[in-house]
Amino acid sequence: MRFFLSIIASNLIFAGLIPSFAAAQCPGAFAVEVLGSGGPRADDGRASAGYIIWADGEAKFLIDAGGGVFLRFAEAGAKVTDLNGIFISHFHADHSGDLVTILKSGFFERRPTPLAIAGPSGGAVFPGLNDWLKANFDPEHGAYRYLSGYLTGSGGLPKLETTEVDASKDEAIHVYKDENFSVMAIPVVHGPVPALGFAVTGKNASVIFAGDQGIETEFFDAALEGSKPDILIAHHAIPEADGGQPIGLHRPPSSIGKMAATLGAKKLVLSHNMVRALDELDEGIAAISKNYDGPVDVAEDHSCYTVGAAD
Ligand SMILES: [Zn+2]
Repeated sequence: MRFFLSIIASNLIFAGLIPSFAAAQCPGAFAVEVLGSGGPRADDGRASAGYIIWADGEAKFLIDAGGGVFLRFAEAGAKVTDLNGIFISHFHADHSGDLVTILKSGFFERRPTPLAIAGPSGGAVFPGLNDWLKANFDPEHGAYRYLSGYLTGSGGLPKLETTEVDASKDEAIHVYKDENFSVMAIPVVHGPVPALGFAVTGKNASVIFAGDQGIETEFFDAALEGSKPDILIAHHAIPEADGGQPIGLHRPPSSIGKMAATLGAKKLVLSHNMVRALDELDEGIAAISKNYDGPVDVAEDHSCYTVGAAD
């Protein structure tokens, strides 16, 4: 009976009717996978923001966890057990909405060791990382108080070891370091939302996640000027046309091009792709190339970029 069920299941997979969860992992000693290439709109047809840094077939870092990333994480073959750290750029829902569900899924892997997590401080109507975790996991008042073990390391859950980065200061700080990787958090301007970008560096390669940032961001460009990342992932949320609003929250393509040129990016990857920006893609690419002459790629969910060796 089981044999026949498995034949039926494989036929359904072959017909594309159910997912196989057997997507190839992003190969190489150091690679980045775009889990979610979209923004906050479900009808843009993409998962919201989320990225994995892969090293030799293991998912080492998760950067952002917006809606839909829960499923993309599993499709990619990633395991919570393998993660060295989780880095959340800011607490808009399209960057953090699936974090609890990914952590809960990790419960079933019985990860024995604590897990590093970094995110921004609070401000305006946004909690900082520590308050956000309390709002979810506080044993008395948290929305998911049944998962309070994430704060204490009890109940079979790995303790989250937090680093809350002051997003109001022009100061970049290390949020992770081991023999193969270092991760730096860099505050950015995202309207009233405390927000961070991240630079992940291996021994021979680097990937920079610009995150959501507006045109008033200056420190990020200055801090990373000439750093020549192998990949710069920038968020393509607004078109160049009509002054591209909301400009305080996001950079229009011309400003993305300027950032890529200042950093000396070897490749620019556009993610957080919203249809309103993709509808004007030709104008956007033209605006980028006025300031940046390197290669530009428009990411899809599961786009994979192998960038070099980690050792
Ligand atoms: Zn945002």
